Amino acid sequence: MVFKVGLGFDSHRLVAGRPLIIGGINIPASAGCLAHSDGDVLVHALMDALLGAAGLGDIGQKFPETDPAYKNISSLELLQTVMVEIKASGLVVLNADSIVILEKPRLASFIPQMKDRLSPLLALNPSSLGIKAKTAEGLGEVGAGRAVEAWATVLLAG
Ligand code: MG
Repeated sequence: MVFKVGLGFDSHRLVAGRPLIIGGINIPASAGCLAHSDGDVLVHALMDALLGAAGLGDIGQKFPETDPAYKNISSLELLQTVMVEIKASGLVVLNADSIVILEKPRLASFIPQMKDRLSPLLALNPSSLGIKAKTAEGLGEVGAGRAVEAWATVLLAG
């Protein structure tokens, strides 16, 4: 058996008038992600971790921002596409861990819903999907409430 670790990162600018969708959950907020897709920063980081671990490139190559097919698309649909490729490569996800860094609103109460939404798509038990929420303590663009970031790691086996 071969084990493969993947690392993913994503960030998005926050602007008024856009929905804030993180981990597939629509979070009530005064600003959302400026993006070509729905801007789900956590799912984007997870997808890049999956693709990186499997040697399948990255989401920028798979789902170009210039392609109108992906305009405002749910990132959950993109994740399902990525998982089809992961499975086709003979790989399974053993676990995933992640961090979302957002100044406001606080995300802790939404994490169980995010786990319930994402773990079936990753073919994981919710206990094998880590999602942690942090603030930036007022530092930088994230701390000023102008951006959101996410990091993710995955472990694949095949
Ligand atoms: Mg993104």
